[in-house]
Amino acid sequence: TYVVTDNCIACKYTDCVEVCPVDCFYEGENMLVIHPDECIDCGVCEPECPADAIRPDTEADMEKWVEFNRKYSEAW
Ligand code: SF4
Repeated sequence: TYVVTDNCIACKYTDCVEVCPVDCFYEGENMLVIHPDECIDCGVCEPECPADAIRPDTEADMEKWVEFNRKYSEAW
């Protein structure tokens, strides 16, 4: 899965939301999040993010961001 990290805070762009084929972006308190179970790992959103906030969970220390994204995407 891909996750949104805190570089997203205060970013005003939603280019990522527009390109996602499965609409798995949700609004958190002050940033967007990706539902980790709905993301199909296509990677299309990552290069669209001007804040470099979207990262694959295969990078180091991403567990907390997966949980954070899950928590806020399931709040809806
Ligand atoms: Fe959506 Fe693909 Fe990005 Fe996952 S990797 S959030 S499916 S655009």
